Amino acid sequence: MTFEKFNLSPAILKAVVACGYTTPTPIQAESIPVVMAGKDLIATAQTGTGKTAAFVLPALQRLIAPSTVPGKGPRILVLTPTRELAGQVMDAARTYGRGTNLRCGSILGGMPYREQLRLLSAPVDIIVATPGRLLDHLERGSIRLDRLEMLILDEADRMLDMGFSEDMEKIVSAAPTNRQTLMFTATMGNTVLKLAEKMLRDPQRIELAVRTSSHDLIEQRLHVADSLHHKKELLHHLVSDGKLTKAIIFSATKRDADELARELSRNGYPAAPLHGDMNQIARNKTIERMRKGAIRLLVATDVAARGLDVNGISHVINFDLPRFAEDYVHRIGRTGRAGATGIAISFVSSSELNYLERIERFIGRKLPEQNIEGLAPLSVLRRVSGGGGARRGGAPTGGRYGKAGSKSTSAAGSGKPWVNKSKAPAARSSRPNASQPVVEYRSRRAEVQGGIDR
Ligand code: AMP
Repeated sequence: MTFEKFNLSPAILKAVVACGYTTPTPIQAESIPVVMAGKDLIATAQTGTGKTAAFVLPALQRLIAPSTVPGKGPRILVLTPTRELAGQVMDAARTYGRGTNLRCGSILGGMPYREQLRLLSAPVDIIVATPGRLLDHLERGSIRLDRLEMLILDEADRMLDMGFSEDMEKIVSAAPTNRQTLMFTATMGNTVLKLAEKMLRDPQRIELAVRTSSHDLIEQRLHVADSLHHKKELLHHLVSDGKLTKAIIFSATKRDADELARELSRNGYPAAPLHGDMNQIARNKTIERMRKGAIRLLVATDVAARGLDVNGISHVINFDLPRFAEDYVHRIGRTGRAGATGIAISFVSSSELNYLERIERFIGRKLPEQNIEGLAPLSVLRRVSGGGGARRGGAPTGGRYGKAGSKSTSAAGSGKPWVNKSKAPAARSSRPNASQPVVEYRSRRAEVQGGIDR
């Protein structure tokens, strides 16, 4: 299979060749002919599979013929859950469409209105948008969708998770009924199917193996952690390994991302946070610095990292496990991209056991536990599936993660968040007395377990 088979215009084909793509990925091979035939489509594909080109290439092809409808509104609209993903789709449209002289732009929350209004003041071919801001423009009357030929919902499941269902429905109701609609989703649950029923007409369904197929190149493992302090020791050990060239470290909350990035930087590792409290310009700058190698470690929350496409990520480290199993799959998909191998390491404390079990059910396999010499856990995870084995003598049942009774704040304010490297092995037996404000951390975690602070 080659790209020539798709009958794309020479300008588009030339751009594809310039990207160095020789063969279409499976999602491209299956989707492009369906989209070129004008059919609606619902496809399961995760980031990293080449799904962006799967819809951008036929969308560009469609734009070669001029619009027959007068007006200024977009002919193609792509909705994405996050600004990062929107940025990547926009980049892809510009890259693949560079020989086509199209007018395109993005409409994103957190960005100034002035430029967006300027974009919308003349006929536009492609708009990539996050749902909230697009709806805002619709309600103000600054955008009309009567010229819309193709609506693409990228990571539809995620948009539903993020509460965009109503916004999406309002946007769809403003679009012409004879449009073509494509829905890309990582998972095909009931809510996604219901949404598809409402928005798609007799869609072709393409389901590529969702769960692990694109992650065959990623080595996945986990380390049991007794406490926050233990997690930091493990992290320190991993980031000091020269084989870790670039890593994304996922934390549960924005505040933790800030704190961890600060601590890593203080300890001589070029690191930066990436989360939803940062404005878009700061986020873009951080991602660019990561791309250029000025930052080696990105400490991110899920929302900010969704769709993040940085080449050469050697490791993904789940400092905290995600609450949603789908997020685990998305997180680890930041490494092992475009044929490269990658390593995904998760820290799991006893309080995260539920999350681990959910993830393992979702991916259909058990993540192997590994110990690092001198940093083996004192506690044992009691996994339903027998993982972790029998308890060793004297080990506490639930681990010490956040256990109030074992809290020691003796050195909490000492300004030494990392354990002394040289004493790590010997310190294992006395780790419960190490210098972390464990309880404080835990209560913050409890606040955000409801998922508000991601
Ligand atoms: P996506 O899943 O769209 O985020 O794409 C993941 C990565 O694969 C991006 O860096 C693309 O540039 C790259 N890519 C897309 N299509 C191909 C292809 N046919 N051959 C090689 N790389 C590709």
